[in-house]
Amino acid sequence: VRELNARFAEQRLVPVTVSAEEIRKYYEGYSNGVLWPMFHYQLDRLDLDSGDNWETYREVNRRFAEAVVAEYRPGDLIWVQDYQLMLVPELLRERLPEASIGFFLHIPFPSAEVFRILPQRERMLRGLLGADVIGFHTFAYARHFATALLHVLGLEPGVDSVQVGDRTVRLGVFPMGIDAEAFDARSRSEAVTTELTRIRDELRGCRLFLSIDRLDYTKGLRRRLLAFERLLLRRPELRGTVKLLQVVVPSRTKVDSYAQFGRQVDELVGRINGAFSDVSYAPVQYLYRSVNEDQLTALYRAADVMLVTPLRDGMNLVSKEFVAARSDGDGVLVLSEFAGASAELGEAIQINPYDLDSQEAAFERALAMPEMERRARMRSLRKRVFNSSVRRWAEDFLDRLKEAAPPPAPPVRTKITPHHRLGDIVAAPKVLCLMDYDGTLVDFQPSPLLAAPDAGLRILLNRLAEAPGLSSHIVSGRTVDTLDDWFAGLPVGLHAEHGYWSRFAPDLPWTSAGKAPPEWKEKILPIFETFVSRTPGTLIEEKSAGVTWHYRMANPEHAARQARDLLLLLTDVISNLPVEILRGDKIIEVREHGVNKGNVLRRLLELHPGALVVAVGDDRTDEDMFEAAPSDAVTVLVGWRASTARYQLAGVGAVREFLAEVAACRTAPNAEAD
Ligand code: UDP
Repeated sequence: VRELNARFAEQRLVPVTVSAEEIRKYYEGYSNGVLWPMFHYQLDRLDLDSGDNWETYREVNRRFAEAVVAEYRPGDLIWVQDYQLMLVPELLRERLPEASIGFFLHIPFPSAEVFRILPQRERMLRGLLGADVIGFHTFAYARHFATALLHVLGLEPGVDSVQVGDRTVRLGVFPMGIDAEAFDARSRSEAVTTELTRIRDELRGCRLFLSIDRLDYTKGLRRRLLAFERLLLRRPELRGTVKLLQVVVPSRTKVDSYAQFGRQVDELVGRINGAFSDVSYAPVQYLYRSVNEDQLTALYRAADVMLVTPLRDGMNLVSKEFVAARSDGDGVLVLSEFAGASAELGEAIQINPYDLDSQEAAFERALAMPEMERRARMRSLRKRVFNSSVRRWAEDFLDRLKEAAPPPAPPVRTKITPHHRLGDIVAAPKVLCLMDYDGTLVDFQPSPLLAAPDAGLRILLNRLAEAPGLSSHIVSGRTVDTLDDWFAGLPVGLHAEHGYWSRFAPDLPWTSAGKAPPEWKEKILPIFETFVSRTPGTLIEEKSAGVTWHYRMANPEHAARQARDLLLLLTDVISNLPVEILRGDKIIEVREHGVNKGNVLRRLLELHPGALVVAVGDDRTDEDMFEAAPSDAVTVLVGWRASTARYQLAGVGAVREFLAEVAACRTAPNAEAD
């Protein structure tokens, strides 16, 4: 052990000790008895009820996390790999809140409908969400993961990220590659050329089908053998002229289902050879062992047809290695559409491994393919494989992690309240105070109609109006009618529909900032109506500038799913319209392009040049206001999330207190709070 530890230290590896018993439960039991079959859609092989495998999985994950915490230095990037360590990101986040943590999943992420079978589904998703970047091989896997977040946790992921409290977790697609140059170079080496000649001599003119897999039920071994058997049955003239060399690398021999599967494969090979062999010919050659790199490369070179036909495979590197090793530019690849690699390797003959007839037909097609077509396909495949190397995979992931690393500037977690700017606010000759309404001045109500201003708020607005040199404005998403109704007689500027309509002072008329002809609404309204009928508890609010779908009162999970569908649909529909989509808190709004709260702020600054801006809001629509504010502005976010606002207040109560202080300090500067 001491010698081993010394070698680890040389390579800067830190071992994590796991007992034999733990290996049985954590690795064989939970990782390979539950997660592996589930993520590969092999539900009949799930072993969900074995003792305390899950507890051991958690315990071992904890130990890995501790080992990382012990080594961590600020500024390090942490990259957690694969399904055996899915809880580690969260465990690390608890201990190292500021660390940059990435996670990559090397196997498929299954459809959310399958994933939700997992009894520990919430824990596993929460575990992963500790990371800043979560990477997958394909878009399909990333999409499944996003759907699982929605179904299981009720989170609403965007296109490539999801907001978790005040953190943004990015979801990325990083198809893993290989060191193609190395395979190409090796394939031209003397050792491989010699080995290739030897293999060809032994084949004596027989055409070679080649397969190389770990012994795993996901690899499609049995169906491949059955399809090959079918080929020999249907095309008797091929007997004696084609061979299948199946290299099987021993794997997970202690997991029951693997041992059992091995026996089934043995029997099938025996049956086929029994039926079609003669003294000088056996159709299937079965090697149950690993091969060295030169032998592997020589085999890739020798194959006429490479069969990669897994039932599911996260990526499958063998298919890419085969392509990289074909420096002669020839050879045919038959590839399962359920391998992650199929998303990139379009020029392979793609098959559905569950469909034996089509698999067998693909074998025939591969044998019959003219040389020109083989070479043309291989040329494109090689270009693709050489372009997406494993080095690039790692660099892309780490680049994304570094980008995600600095918390949004200025950092949200500093939690500075705006109170220490009171001095500036008192000293400024003019102050412009812009306030969002719902969620900022009043709490959210179950129905938008219940949110009328209360007596306390009326008093506050009057106090602000009395403060000398201070001009206060409500900048809301509400309609003109609502604001007129609620604020009649109150001395405050009003801006309705995110600034489409403005009434700069109580005695002035409403003016519109809109320019587009309103016909676009006729296209959008029917879509919204369909979603209202599909989603009980949701409603449409129609305004001059836009149409809003509110879903706060609906079943959250169902509505969030509908909201995502609606967003996708709208993105398609609006491309030719003068409108934009706005996603607020439990609302989706389509509104005229370029009308937003930022423009209100700009116009107010034209009316009050040089005024110190105080802008308060809680919603994503308030970000436009924060972004448009001058650098010395007092921009205040209500609640906790990533934002460009510089200051924060916890909720409506804190906002009212702060504004009351602003009013008091400006009215009687000497009474300024300490
Ligand atoms: N391989 C190996 N020993 C062998 C034959 C192959 O290590 O005797 C390698 C092969 O070159 C490839 C890897 O095993 O890099 C298999 O990766 P793949 O993604 O195809 O499948 P996985 O085993 O990860 O499910």
